[in-house]
Amino acid sequence: MHPDLEAVLITEASIRRRVKQLANEIMKTYGDEEITVVSIINGAILFTADLLRQIENPVRLDCMRISSYGSATKSIGTPQLVHSLTLDVKNRHVLLIDDILDTGKTISVVTELIRKLHPASIRTCMLLDKKGRREVEFKADFVGFEIPDKFVVGYGLDFAERYRNLPCIGVLKSHLQNPPEWGH
Ligand code: 5GP
Ligand code: MG
Repeated sequence: MHPDLEAVLITEASIRRRVKQLANEIMKTYGDEEITVVSIINGAILFTADLLRQIENPVRLDCMRISSYGSATKSIGTPQLVHSLTLDVKNRHVLLIDDILDTGKTISVVTELIRKLHPASIRTCMLLDKKGRREVEFKADFVGFEIPDKFVVGYGLDFAERYRNLPCIGVLKSHLQNPPEWGH
C-alpha cells in the first residue's frame, strides 16, 4: 500500500472486474448504436481509458474540463467550464463519464450544458458515488462503486494533482489533506 494512504477502499483487481461489468451493462443498453463519449478530465482519464477498451460499440471520444475544487478537499462554489467540447453532439447518443458523484453539482452543470446542444440521448457513467453527500438530486445511469463519505485518491482521483497514478482507490491520510499552501 502507498505510504500516504490510510486504507485501500477498492483494489486494482476489483476495479478491473467492475469496469468489465460496466462495459457489458453499457453495451447492453446501447445495442449496436454509436456512442459519443464525453470524459470529464482530468479525474476520469484512467477510468475512461480502461472502460472504452472493453466497449465494442463504435465510439467517438471527446473531453471536457471542469474546475470545482482547486487543491482543497472541499468544493469551492459553482463548477466552471474550463475547456469545452470539440465534437458535435447534436442527434448523437452522449455518454458522460466522470470519476465521482459527490454533491452532484458538477454532473448537473455538465448535463445541462450538453442538453442545450440537442443530443439524441444523454446518459452518465460514474466510477464512484458518495450517495450521502448529495446537494443536487442526481441519479447516474451506470455506477462503478458506492463509497462512504471519505476523501479518496487514486485511479485518476487526485489531491493537489497528485496520486492520480495509483492503481487502486484509497483514503488519503488525514494529516495530508491540508492544502499545501496551508501546510506546516
Ligand atoms: P460534485 O460536483 O459532485 O460535488 O463533485 C465532483 C468532483 O469533486 C469530482 O469530479 C472530483 O473532482 C471532486 N471530488 C469529490 N469527492 C472527491 C474525493 O473523495 N476525492 C477526490 N480526489 N475528488 C473528489
Ligand atoms: Mg473531477
